[in-house]
Amino acid sequence: MPVAHDSQSVLHILQQHVPQPSADYAHQLWLQSPFQLKLTRSRQTKVGDFSCKSNSAHLQITLNHDLNPYLFLLTYVHEVAHLRVFLAHGRRAEAHGAEWKDSFKVLLQPMLQESIFPYQILHELRRHMENPKASSFADIGLTVALRAHDKNSQSIALLSSIPTGSIFKLQGRYFKKGQLRRTRVVCMEMKSKRNYLVPMEIPLQRRGTSGMRLTQSSLNKLTYHFKKCVRRKGTPTLNL
Ligand SMILES: [Zn+2]
Repeated sequence: MPVAHDSQSVLHILQQHVPQPSADYAHQLWLQSPFQLKLTRSRQTKVGDFSCKSNSAHLQITLNHDLNPYLFLLTYVHEVAHLRVFLAHGRRAEAHGAEWKDSFKVLLQPMLQESIFPYQILHELRRHMENPKASSFADIGLTVALRAHDKNSQSIALLSSIPTGSIFKLQGRYFKKGQLRRTRVVCMEMKSKRNYLVPMEIPLQRRGTSGMRLTQSSLNKLTYHFKKCVRRKGTPTLNL
């Protein structure tokens, strides 16, 4: 997986991953406060992160290599905002506190235009940016708009979008979807009959639905397969 330390190799990565009209701006952000940019394999637990070793000499941002261009750009700016807050305040500032929200808003603002994001994402983003959350996936409208641009979007359903009572598979176990509690859904594990809280935005892979006419009763019987849990730091832990 590529690791970039210098201007040219960072630009090269950005040109391949962010929406084309945003590449120069993303590169400018790097030039203003350089860091090591590393692409990683697809991680189940996060889409990106910012880290620094002991002092501010080694700043690193990692991003999953397989994010669609809009999610890649959004995650890139999210992490650059962490870096800026770190440079200004050290570890005193809260991870997704007021400083980070301000920085994220300021840095993303020039990108909120139709030449960069498709209308549906832009619409959701403008709403989301009024009070950005630690995880953009905690915002269901934004998640759906972003996910629509994933290569395999046809086979992905979110837990929030399947009917209550549906059976789905998660980490090798079968669960029945129950009631929503704030942002998490009470789900019963079929074998043990125990309840667990599962984030409602978790993506599930649809199985055996191609060509099927979906009625309410067939939907209730459908089995969904867990695809991958894309979480960011700060989102509630999956209690499994
Ligand atoms: Zn964050």
